[in-house]
Amino acid sequence: MNAEDKQFAVIGLGRFGMSLCEELSERGAQVLAIDINEICVRQAADIATQAVVADCSNEATIAELKLDDYDLVMVAIGDDINANILTTLLLKDAGVKTVWVKAKDTPHCKILSKIGADKIIRPERDMGIRIARNMLDKRVFEFSELGSGISLAEVVVTARNMGKPLSQHPCANSDETQVLALKRGPEVRKAPDMDMEMQVGDILIITGPEDVLSETLRKL
Ligand code: ATP
Repeated sequence: MNAEDKQFAVIGLGRFGMSLCEELSERGAQVLAIDINEICVRQAADIATQAVVADCSNEATIAELKLDDYDLVMVAIGDDINANILTTLLLKDAGVKTVWVKAKDTPHCKILSKIGADKIIRPERDMGIRIARNMLDKRVFEFSELGSGISLAEVVVTARNMGKPLSQHPCANSDETQVLALKRGPEVRKAPDMDMEMQVGDILIITGPEDVLSETLRKL
């Protein structure tokens, strides 16, 4: 499915919700932007496909907006945790297939996962973890959680592995992690040959269980 064919709804147009709307729209996706506050909706009207003022913690509103027709609904309501939880519950009850929710803390995450949230995002915590990993190790460019405990990392090849076959890289040398691609300059080689000699600066795109991947990267 192309980005243009996907229908998204974003509920709550704070900094987080609004930046989602901007990025999704820029990439050609259909976005319905919703907020209880008219000022936020007016700002989003220039960005999103459609922008409406609505209180999504109300069952009739969820039905009226036909949110169950959307591929993914993001609940980006922040401070009002009651509204955040109630909206999530109503969306799941209405049969929305995929509901992602922004959460504040661990107890909030627990409730959201009990009521069926499909993905729980803690932007400040997730960004903090990502930046700390970057600060500690310049060799790990990117580390992202894909869900279900699986993560993806971009790792740069250093002098220690120069000239060795890819099969000898610690991330390729494990049953649980897998090298999906190798980037060399502008070129990207998908499912690279394990006999290929590594060069300094090559970037490996690796996937695997988050704990195994973190541990392997720590030992690089
Ligand atoms: P950010 O960090 O993204 O700026 P935040 O975490 O401070 O945001 P809030 O500003 O509390 O979150 O909430 C985000 C938006 O959600 C607000 O614009 C608010 O008006 C909206 N909102 C709150 N309750 C509802 C509701 N019941 N239905 C729709 N939108 C709502």
